[in-house]
This record gives sequence, structure tokens and C-alpha cells, in this order.
Amino acid sequence: MAMMTGKQYIESLRALKPEVYFLGQKIRSIVDEPMFQPHLYGAAMTYELAHHPEYEEIMTATSHLTGERINRFTHVHQRIDDLVKKVRMMRLLGQKTGTCFQRCVGLDGLNAIYVITYDLDRKYGTDYHERFKKYLREVQENDWMPAGAMTDARGDRSLRPSKQKHPGVYLHIKERVKDGIIVSGTKAHITGAINSHEILTMPTRTMTEEDRDYALAFAIPVDTKGVTLVFSRQTNDTRRLDGVLDAGNPKYGIVGGEAVILFKDVFVPWQRVFMAGEADFTTPLVETFAGYHRSNYGGCKVGLADVVIGGSSWIAEAHGIGNASHIVDKLTEMIAMAETCWSCTLACSYEGYQTPSGAYHIHPLLANVTKLNITRMVYEWMRLGQDIAGGKIITLPSEKDLNSPASGPMLEECFSGKDGFPPRDIIKMLRLIENMSVGAGLPEAMHGAGSPAAQKIMIARRSGIEKKTELAQSVAGIRRDGYFEAIVGKEEKAHWNEVRKKIEERKVQIY
Ligand SMILES: Cc1cc2nc3c(=O)[nH]c(=O)nc-3n(C[C@H](O)[C@H](O)[C@H](O)COP(=O)(O)OP(=O)(O)OC[C@H]3O[C@@H](n4cnc5c(N)ncnc54)[C@H](O)[C@@H]3O)c2cc1C
Repeated sequence: MAMMTGKQYIESLRALKPEVYFLGQKIRSIVDEPMFQPHLYGAAMTYELAHHPEYEEIMTATSHLTGERINRFTHVHQRIDDLVKKVRMMRLLGQKTGTCFQRCVGLDGLNAIYVITYDLDRKYGTDYHERFKKYLREVQENDWMPAGAMTDARGDRSLRPSKQKHPGVYLHIKERVKDGIIVSGTKAHITGAINSHEILTMPTRTMTEEDRDYALAFAIPVDTKGVTLVFSRQTNDTRRLDGVLDAGNPKYGIVGGEAVILFKDVFVPWQRVFMAGEADFTTPLVETFAGYHRSNYGGCKVGLADVVIGGSSWIAEAHGIGNASHIVDKLTEMIAMAETCWSCTLACSYEGYQTPSGAYHIHPLLANVTKLNITRMVYEWMRLGQDIAGGKIITLPSEKDLNSPASGPMLEECFSGKDGFPPRDIIKMLRLIENMSVGAGLPEAMHGAGSPAAQKIMIARRSGIEKKTELAQSVAGIRRDGYFEAIVGKEEKAHWNEVRKKIEERKVQIY
């Protein structure tokens, strides 16, 4: 099958029959349900832009498996240029949707499993990599969206998976049978899961030998028997059922549309299993995935910043304060922070490297720094956006009151601004800023791709602090400095003895 358009992607979901629940009810068709449609449209943008010549270079790639042109969201990075185009794609999609477009988690899962199964097979003589390549080919040929499911519910964080009171808080192998494995457990917060074709699982943390049944990676169709998806609540989510204007971003929603995935005795055939018990490869898999995923945040969230900066500037104009010096200063501050994060993510890509599998990986230290900056700076630029937009972002009346003959005409008058800015446009923009700066997007910037402490652990591990200590010792004169000795033409000790002697003899006149 060729690459799907946005419309074809949405229609392709009709063929699937996932078991989805929301607000205690079973959902018959996610495609026709107004609650879910904005999320579908957000993901559809990742398909649609691939068909527009102006974005073809960024949105598509050539498969290294088939030589066919494919959507970049199914591509395994073959060079530095792919890593750079990937983050350009993230920023572009953030700009077009103003929210999470969901498909990057699966993309990063595909790349991480590709890289790690290669190393795993070299050590254990298994054939996970070949199995995975067959799966990847299917993903590319069908232009599937796999939901990247790494995070387990995790219960008591102080206990290892096998020590939990409820074994279901981690996804695990219950039984190994001739043709595959039977798994049970929970994955939580999974972005775009209800509108994905597939679920691609990975272990959530380092596993030890005693947790080997939790060292697990596999892929299954989203409507596999035994899989139940419970769609999560979001800030102001049911507003989209109250009126179009009230939703804020009625087209593409807020954050990605997350779900809890419950697995109950789910059968996974061996050809879809990519790790089953190799606990020593869980750390590399988690770190590789996290590296790819954390680097994305300097792309997508900067795309969102572009939207909120543009919206803040527009609303300042509409309110007649566009030229005020503090407004110009705040907008400039927002731009500088966003471009700082962008610089970080570009650096992750340009400093990437080739792995033994042939695929390219980003620079892990810089990727973690990128995401750590995002956990702070998104809050800061959204704070400035709220400052510029004013309190109306959280006190506006509803669309129904605007349409009511009793209050509507006077409300429209009271929300007018500068000439040339229709009141309903002003309200639309204020609602968009509310949607982006007050709601679920902020904790997503904090916890998505891991909480700040997880980034700090990786930064500490990879910072090369020993090397920095050596540098300091060398500059302080505690460690031998060969370059300095070359400059002065003698051993340091001899040099400093001479200097001391000169000082004592006052041969050097300083004052
Ligand atoms: C909007 C959104 C979308 C997401 N999408 C996906 C997705 O598509 N796929 C996916 O796999 N995951 C996804 N995630 C999950 C994300 O990776 C997790 O939220 C993140 O790893 C934090 O886990 P948690 O939310 O369970 O918080 P917790 O782990 O409960 O963290 C809360 C606090 O506890 C601390 N903490 C946790 N464990 C320990 C410990 N052992 N010792 C000391 N401190 C600890 C943390 O550092 C943090 O400060 C998403 C999350 C969000 C918010």
C-alpha cells in the first residue's frame, strides 16, 4: 500500500475494532465520536503533509529495506541528515496542529528496537533483529501508526517489578507456549493508543535477572483479543461536546489523547516478539528509546511555542498593546527560549552517530539536556503568553451565552478590541492560548519522555565528570600538563621553581 493521506488514515481505522472505554462506556466507533475526532485529526496531519510537495523532503524518506518512498514516521534513520529532518518534521507538525500529533513515540520505539535487537542477537545468537526487520517492513508498507508503549503503571516505585503486590502493575510474560508468549499487565499514559493500528511495547526500566519475565518487547494489533483501552481524561475535555468555540483547539485537541492499556492473557506469536527475558538489554533499550524521544521535545514543543508566540502577538495587537515595550520584550524572551531549545535539539541530531546496526542515534547527553530545558522553558513561555493574553483566558463565557439573544449582543460588544479584530476572533485566540497554556500540555512537557529526575540521572551518567575533574586538576597544576610544559619548554616543576626564585630575588617588577 502507498503512503496514506490524512483521510485514508482515518478511514483505515474503521477496519479495526479495539475495545475502548471512556467515562464508563464502551465506544463503538472512535472515528465517529466527537470526543476523539480532534486526536484523530492531529495524527492525520502526520499522514497528510507527506503528500504536499513543499513538505515532501521533510515528511518522507527512502526505506533502507525496500527502496520505496515511505512516511518518515516509519523510517529507521540512516544518516545524520535523517536525524535533522526528523526534528524539523516535529517542529513543522507542532506548528500545524498546536498540540501533540502522537506518532513520534512509535517512531522512536521502532528505531530503538532496531538498534538494540541487532546487539542482542550478536550476544545471544537469537533472531530478534530479522523478525523485527520483517515487522518494520510491514509497518512501512502499510503506513501503520504503532503506539509506543513503554511506561508501566509501576505501583510502588520503591519495589522491583517482581516484588509488587499486584503483578499487573507491570506488563509481564505469564507463560511461554510453543508458538509464542502469553502476557498480562498494564501500560499507562499511552499517547494515541486508541487511534493507532498497532501497539509496540518496550520495558519501562532496567530489569534484573529476577525480573526477566518483565524484560519484554513485542508488537500486536490494537484490537488483539485481551487488550482493553481506557481513554484518559484531559483538562476541559468534554468542552468539545458543549460547543466548538469553547474547546480552544477544536481541530486538533489538547495533548495526544492518552489511554491506559490493560493486557489480560494476551497471546503474542514469536514472530512479533523482540525481547523476552534478556534483562541485560533492558537498560540499553530504555536509554536508546529515551534518547530519541527526549530529543524530539526540542522540535514539537518549539513548534507549539511558534503558535503560542504568534497568538500572543496577535492578541496584543487586538488589545491595542502591540507596541508596548514590555510586550515586545516578553515576546522576544519567548522567542529566545524557544530557539534555545531548538538549538539543543538540532545539536542532538548533528552530533549523532552510527550504531553497529547501521541506524543512526542522537547524542544522548544533549538529548537529555534538551528535554530538561523543555521541562522548565515550556512553563516559562506559557507563563509569558498568559501574561500577555490577560485573565480572560480563564473567565470567558461559553459559546452558548454568546449565541443567546439575552446576553450575546452585549457580550460581543464587551469583548471587542481594536478596529479590524472581530470579537469572535479575539475569543477564538484567547481560547487557544487557554488550551495551550492552562491545560494538560504543561505536565506533558514535564513528564512526557520521563520526569526531570530521569533526565538528570542520564546527564550525570554521561557528563564525563571524571574528565572534567582531570581538566580542573590540569589547570590547577595538580596533574601534569604536557601542553603547558611544551609552551614553557621545561617540566612544570622546574618552571615553577624558577618562577619562585625570581619572585624571591625580586627580578620581576610588578608594581
Ligand atoms: C501526556 C503524556 C503522554 C505520555 N505518553 C506516553 C507514551 O506515549 N508512551 C509511554 O510509554 N509513556 C508515555 N508517557 C509516560 C511518561 O513517560 C511518564 O509520565 C513518565 O515516565 C513519569 O512517570 P509517571 O507519570 O508514572 O510518574 P512517576 O513515576 O510517579 O513520577 C512522579 C515523581 O516520582 C519520581 N519517581 C518515580 N520513580 C521513582 C523512584 N523509583 N525513586 C525516586 N523517585 C521516583 C519522579 O522522578 C517524579 O518526580 C506520557 C506521559 C504524559 C504525561
